[in-house]
Amino acid sequence: AEMSTLISAEIEERGRVEAVVSPTGWPDQGTHYDVMVVGAGFAGAVMAERLASQSGLRVLVVDRRPHIAGNAFDHLDQAGVLIHQYGPHIFHTNSADVFDYLSQFTEWRPYEHRVLADIDGKLVPMPINRTTLNVLYDLDLKTDEEAEAYLESRAEPVEVIKTSADVVISKVGRELYETFFQGYTRKQWGMDPSELDKSVTSRVPTRTNTDDRYFTDTFQAMPLHGFTKMFERMLDHPNIDVLLGVDYRQVRDVYSHDHLVFTGPIDEYFGFRYGKLPYRSLRFVHETHDVEVFQPVAVVNYPRQDIPHTRITEYKYLTGQVHPKTSITYEIPSAEGDPYYPIPRDENQQLFKKYEALSVAAGDVTFVGRLATYRYYNMDQVVGQALATHRKLAPSLLGKKEA
Ligand code: FAD
Ligand code: UDP
Repeated sequence: AEMSTLISAEIEERGRVEAVVSPTGWPDQGTHYDVMVVGAGFAGAVMAERLASQSGLRVLVVDRRPHIAGNAFDHLDQAGVLIHQYGPHIFHTNSADVFDYLSQFTEWRPYEHRVLADIDGKLVPMPINRTTLNVLYDLDLKTDEEAEAYLESRAEPVEVIKTSADVVISKVGRELYETFFQGYTRKQWGMDPSELDKSVTSRVPTRTNTDDRYFTDTFQAMPLHGFTKMFERMLDHPNIDVLLGVDYRQVRDVYSHDHLVFTGPIDEYFGFRYGKLPYRSLRFVHETHDVEVFQPVAVVNYPRQDIPHTRITEYKYLTGQVHPKTSITYEIPSAEGDPYYPIPRDENQQLFKKYEALSVAAGDVTFVGRLATYRYYNMDQVVGQALATHRKLAPSLLGKKEA
């Protein structure tokens, strides 16, 4: 098959060829690689870049999607607005190592993320902070101490905090929990917060000050020319070949390789031997509106359970793009579709452990990333995981090559 057709009938049709790495075509049959990397998202791209440029190994990267960058893929839509194909991706990290590493491949645009929640038409800051309480309940809490005392008066003590319901109820009480978390979580995960590990809602803090930023990390910025451009630069190396629109199963026997790095779903790799690992999916509805501004911030959350979407994102806030039109995305959670979120629950972790045991025994394959290690990781955590994995893996691969 011709690479140009594989690369992406789908993308070309919609006029977004600009976002794809220039096609190199299928490498000659019989080409040998030191490492085959499955997946061109953060996990796969970082592994490939390190293996190629630091360890000097020959790498083939294959992704079944017609583009690089995995879920962080962004591109110009038909109106020429830069959008994120798989929902809003906001970069933030406390790791200077991760930030410095990525800075080799992109300049940055400082961006601090702010989110409003739509509570029956009233837009209030999320995470819950002092302003949220004042606006929502028409209060006049003036200090951290006053807000703290207010929340304490509403909080319901929970002896052992185990679930995603416990985390919130113990801090802000049942009413605020129901207003901001219960409906949203039931939609997002298809289950009640009481059925989810506490780590899920723990991602969202509660504040008594008026800091209305979604994240407080040291480094908060967006790649100046977008994520996809950053990935293009990571993968642009003479030791790296990239094959897009091709599933691993189509190439594993075509190109011999000494080692495999797999960043897809681990249960799929092992043929679902122990059953399917549960993942939550989303449907993204992208729209362009003929107005400059659609909503007052990048993301508005819709916690009410009877509204099908969880949030609406307006990309121009994230990218800084100036354009007479604006593009937005609705996220509508669903059980069917691409695996986006591993579901943090004890029983799922137990099942993952069984697959992990197989992966340890397998030897010549390394699992990296959100799907392959079944962890609800942000982008920076995946980059950190990949850098650490490369450090551990490289010596043995280089040793093998010398032998
Ligand atoms: P992926 O990006 O999923 O890449 C895996 C790739 O492997 C995919 O492209 C897939 O096509 C390919 N693949 C799988 N199986 C095969 C196969 N058999 N053959 C060939 N290719 C295969 N993180 C943040 O830090 N900030 C955010 O704001 C943020 N927002 C998010 C919003 C949404 C809606 C979602 C879903 C995630 C968000 N994330 C965010 C998390 C972020 O997307 C992930 O941390 C990151 O993309 C994971 O990278 P990865 O390489 O592990 O996986
Ligand atoms: N959450 C919620 N209401 C909100 C925001 C978040 O209930 O307004 C819960 C929900 O369960 C969500 C989790 O907190 O899945 C983590 O939120 P985050 O914004 O980190 O989700 P992500 O961006 O990863 O989808």
